[in-house]
Amino acid sequence: MTNSGPKIMVIGSINRDLVVRCHTLPAPGQTLLAESSTEICGGKGANQAVAAARAGGQVRMIGRVGDDAFADRLVANLEQAQIESNHVLRTDGCASGLAVVAVDDSGQNSIMVVPGSNGQVSVADIENARLAIESSSVVLLQLEIPLDTVVAAIGMARSAGVPVIVDPAPAPDEWLDQLFHVDLLCPNESEAAAFVGGPVETLKQVESAARAIHEKGAVNVAITLGDRGTLLFDGNQTQLVEPFPVHAVDSTAAGDAFAGAVAVYWAEHSNLVDAVRYGNAAGALSASREGAQPSIAQRDEIEKLWRSAK
Ligand code: ADP
Repeated sequence: MTNSGPKIMVIGSINRDLVVRCHTLPAPGQTLLAESSTEICGGKGANQAVAAARAGGQVRMIGRVGDDAFADRLVANLEQAQIESNHVLRTDGCASGLAVVAVDDSGQNSIMVVPGSNGQVSVADIENARLAIESSSVVLLQLEIPLDTVVAAIGMARSAGVPVIVDPAPAPDEWLDQLFHVDLLCPNESEAAAFVGGPVETLKQVESAARAIHEKGAVNVAITLGDRGTLLFDGNQTQLVEPFPVHAVDSTAAGDAFAGAVAVYWAEHSNLVDAVRYGNAAGALSASREGAQPSIAQRDEIEKLWRSAK
């Protein structure tokens, strides 16, 4: 770790993304010749760790890779982003997490995720990293690892007074009550809709979803709204934190860029409205660039966009 910023602990998934470009997505039973394929490092946990490191945090990660040939590259990718990987474990007899992404000419995609070693991130892994978790400024989690592991991490961090941020992505089949006992929950519109079981589109619906999530226990709720910015509810008031207008080309990882940047700014300045504004700038920059991790901006770029809008 070479950054001098706040200590951010990211606990989550690390994936190998196999991206296949094709003119049209294959129909069931169809074999087609695709245009190209690329293998890149992804996973929401790793993406958010990269985002927090680029936003200026000293980042540590807890997660698992498999014993396949790509595992070394996944770990090297974290280290290259200055992320401490002592708690990223190798899992014998298991493949690394894999996302197979097909993208057609119109930009539509279909994605299959095989959790692989991400499914083995255990409560024991959290116990074994207790010192690192308890000495962090913020713990940041998503839901691509087993939910009981997420719940254990939330409990451990909060008992030690460490603020916890959960990005509830992907939306779980079962919303365990313990997932809400966090300092900041930051779903996007579709995750919020999955939680309330109905549409979350108009600002009124977004606001009432934020209140419902707060009532379940989340101290603060930030619902990200793509090019509409973010609605923040702190338990007293709601505020629409305006987006930074950009020419959007690919919103992949915008939510990951947002979460990593919010974690760093909040840990540094204890001002959640400004942290969300900083996250909005990081999300906007990611949406304005192609790809997932390559689209995640550095701190100076985030600050420049913020200053330009003042
Ligand atoms: P997710 O990727 O999880 O669906 P969003 O698309 O809501 O998350 O993006 C996260 C944040 O990034 C938004 O709250 C917003 O601030 C910013 N953002 C995303 N897309 C755009 C866009 N087209 N223009 C400006 N800001 C954007």
